[in-house]
Amino acid sequence: MVCSGGTSTSCAANGRYTLDLRRNFQTIKVNQHENIVEIGGGTSMAALSEKLRMFSRGFPIGLSPLVGCGYILTGGVSPLSRIYGLAVDNIEEISGIWGNGEKFQCQRPDNSSRPDQNKEWRALCGAAPFLSIVTNLKLKTFPLKTIRFLYAQTSKRGLEALIRLSEEWSENLSLNWIWGQEIRILCTDYCDSVDHRLHFFEDLVTTHKLNIIDSGSIQGLQYLPGMNSSQDALGLDNKSYSEVISLTANKWSHSTSNILDLIENLIANRSDSRNYIACQQLGGAIAREKIESSAFIHRNAMWKPWIASYWPPNHKTKREIALNWLYHSWKTLKVDCSGIHLAQLHTHLPWHREEVNTAFQKWLPELQELKKRYDPYELLPPL
Ligand SMILES: Cc1cc2nc3c(=O)[nH]c(=O)nc-3n(C[C@H](O)[C@H](O)[C@H](O)COP(=O)(O)OP(=O)(O)OC[C@H]3O[C@@H](n4cnc5c(N)ncnc54)[C@H](O)[C@@H]3O)c2cc1C
Repeated sequence: MVCSGGTSTSCAANGRYTLDLRRNFQTIKVNQHENIVEIGGGTSMAALSEKLRMFSRGFPIGLSPLVGCGYILTGGVSPLSRIYGLAVDNIEEISGIWGNGEKFQCQRPDNSSRPDQNKEWRALCGAAPFLSIVTNLKLKTFPLKTIRFLYAQTSKRGLEALIRLSEEWSENLSLNWIWGQEIRILCTDYCDSVDHRLHFFEDLVTTHKLNIIDSGSIQGLQYLPGMNSSQDALGLDNKSYSEVISLTANKWSHSTSNILDLIENLIANRSDSRNYIACQQLGGAIAREKIESSAFIHRNAMWKPWIASYWPPNHKTKREIALNWLYHSWKTLKVDCSGIHLAQLHTHLPWHREEVNTAFQKWLPELQELKKRYDPYELLPPL
């Protein structure tokens, strides 16, 4: 198994060896002239963001800075993805070792690239963990600007209104929400020099009667408040184990109310009070990239809902109940959320293959061909 940030259930398991890249692959080199940063395969998004901040640059990290390169290699959905695309859209070069032991160094293809180079690149951008161990990445960086955020509690009706509204928002704005003990939203606004949106969040609060938990301006996504306690999500409290499934969905529009009814019912019948369903907004720059540019095929999606299910450690029955709730929730939402973002690998769960099929769909056979060539002994996660 391979570990970069060590935040997922796929980085270690009983009876398996883990190659922990956090020890020797944490280099971060900033090339100021080309606005490129080169990082080792065991770098955390917190370390990357802090280093870039010294140069007034940033990278579209996700909702938690604690994750490692697994975040980038599995796609990488950021509150800034609507402007800068997915994390994989910002990779310029990938180096590492294929599962067959050969070294590689691949650059972002251009018009002169051969078809086999395009295919390899596509697979490495989103499906790299199935084929290789990535030791180094060269990434594009962007100028660091102020990000305004609003973190608030709302009602089901408030959430419905915000979802409908945000589907028409400009790309600098992004809506994230979580439905657990209560409903919370986290809006971000990546500011440009124009200040006409200064009162945008204030107006949202008044119009939708939101209860502010926190709001303000930050220089870098690493300072965003966590929507959920990251400690819980990582099982760092030692009292919980969890699994997460990430889905994708096109605009919900008129179906929003029905979908929220389904979610309300799932939450009311959850197996553990810590379980939740949350969502990140897609669209914008993500949709402008060609489907063939990466392994993330759900370019037209507007939402990435994810479902988290918890159980106490070493409790076989409760684990089973938690996993049943997780699977049932996925099936319930599948009609309106038909895709999968394989941010979490579940090779140890019975639905791994179903997730892989839904994540890659028609492109899967091509990826499987590459797997045969680059990881013939299936040392890395199976497809
Ligand atoms: C608190 C939290 C918040 C999150 N927020 C977001 C978010 O906003 N957006 C989003 O898209 N995702 C998000 N995720 C999902 C996260 O990006 C994935 O779970 C990711 O796989 C975690 O990577 P890691 O390096 O931290 O984990 P690890 O457990 O170390 O790695 C996960 C797997 O990725 C693969 N991998 C990691 N590094 C390498 C490498 N160098 N070479 C080859 N394979 C490698 C391996 O298969 C490994 O088992 C979040 C997860 C958590 C826990």
